[in-house]
Amino acid sequence: MEAHPMPILDPKVVAGAPPRFHLLAKPSGSTCNIDCKYCFFLSKEALYPNEKHRMSPATLEAYIKQLLESHRDPNITVAWQGGEPTLMGVEFFRRSIALVEQYRRPGQTVQHTFQTNGIALDDEWCTFLKEHGVLVGLSIDGPREVHDTNRVTRGGKGTFDLVMKGWQQLRKHGVDFNILCTVNAANQHHGRRVYQFFRDELKAEWVQFIPIVERATPETIQLANLGWRERPKEKRLLYTQEGSLVTERTVGGEQYGQFLVDIFEEWVRHDVGKMYVQLFDVTLEAYFGQHKLCIHAPTCGYGPAIEYNGDLYSCDHFVEPRYKLGNIHETHMLEMMASPAQRKFGLDKRDTLTKQCRECEVRPLCNGGCPKDRFATAKDGEPGQNYLCEGLYHFFTHTRPAMQYMGMMVQKGRAPADIMGWVKAEDTRRGPYAPCPCGSGRKFRFCHGTREAPPLPRSAAPVESATEVGA
Ligand code: SF4
Ligand code: SF4
Repeated sequence: MEAHPMPILDPKVVAGAPPRFHLLAKPSGSTCNIDCKYCFFLSKEALYPNEKHRMSPATLEAYIKQLLESHRDPNITVAWQGGEPTLMGVEFFRRSIALVEQYRRPGQTVQHTFQTNGIALDDEWCTFLKEHGVLVGLSIDGPREVHDTNRVTRGGKGTFDLVMKGWQQLRKHGVDFNILCTVNAANQHHGRRVYQFFRDELKAEWVQFIPIVERATPETIQLANLGWRERPKEKRLLYTQEGSLVTERTVGGEQYGQFLVDIFEEWVRHDVGKMYVQLFDVTLEAYFGQHKLCIHAPTCGYGPAIEYNGDLYSCDHFVEPRYKLGNIHETHMLEMMASPAQRKFGLDKRDTLTKQCRECEVRPLCNGGCPKDRFATAKDGEPGQNYLCEGLYHFFTHTRPAMQYMGMMVQKGRAPADIMGWVKAEDTRRGPYAPCPCGSGRKFRFCHGTREAPPLPRSAAPVESATEVGA
């Protein structure tokens, strides 16, 4: 198919717009075929009551056309998300790929990505995904014991077996996949075991961890603790980034850091250069002043979300009326990306840092984390501190010596994987009965000195009660 000519865009708009951005598209809105307890995206259905949440052919075409027109960087990602995108059926995505080919300009390279809970993946889906080189993100929270705590069907049953069937299909067809794992109250104490499960049993090579932080107010906490799905005779609560309480499912700040450290200590001994853990990768890049992940970049605003009807929002985590930029049927996407509102959204990330963050030794790596999580108070009582601060600080300081070593290797033109020899020598020097460097309090020999992480409890981890968030 012939490539599309360069569109004529207003140079003033183009000058203020980013050369590239990562737009998450929600073709079925927030509708899903399962009912994960922590998924506040489910509540976003309340934004569009009484509507069929399905992207129309006209919106699909406008979306693809504008996305390709908007990019001055030749590398573009068409990212499908949900809700659950498989609800749209394969034909919808065939059409989207045909539209990309129709509107792609000379020199533009397009990567298609697809985030799914994996339940609907069958031969037809996987044949299609493989044929078009679609990169699949599979959502799974670890082995059955922890996955089934929150990732459940509408009837409340665990979805582990259903996801495993989808994973088998991906493997059978050789589809490229990543793992997206949330970190929540059920798996927060089992980082290493969860990681080993992905590496050894799912044969994954790329993993991303996302902390679950569900905010609530004293008025909404009770309902929020029940989950975000629709319940008979009850008004659905619309999740917004408000309140300084957190739900029972939310990961603890300190626990989030320890979860990451637990995995890092395993990775740095065995898997550098073989397994890609997103946060480890982007942290190493941050030592070179590069920030590919918005969460730890100094500013953001390059990760908007588009709803099934063409409404564009500042970010996937801020799909709420205050952050709606407009609709692509009325205003060009590039114009909205260049708008003062969106630029302010991105710059506020830097401009609202607390004094504690500004003076923090790991600020160049952390940058205060995502604004959605900044609802705690700083040590001096200033509001707007990141709820996960304690864990973020722990992670960035704990990993610093190893990251600096890997950075040195890269500067010398050597592989970061050389770190594994250095760590081994350090382990030998300390001896097997010294405390494990992960900080668990156990002796190294019985902790990260063994290949096997401690087994998971038979039932999921105990649920901790909602707490007011302080310094
Ligand atoms: S608000 Fe958070 S998730 Fe959204 S773009 Fe900014 S850093 Fe990224
Ligand atoms: S570790 Fe805490 S204080 Fe330091 S930059 Fe991150 S959020 Fe701010």
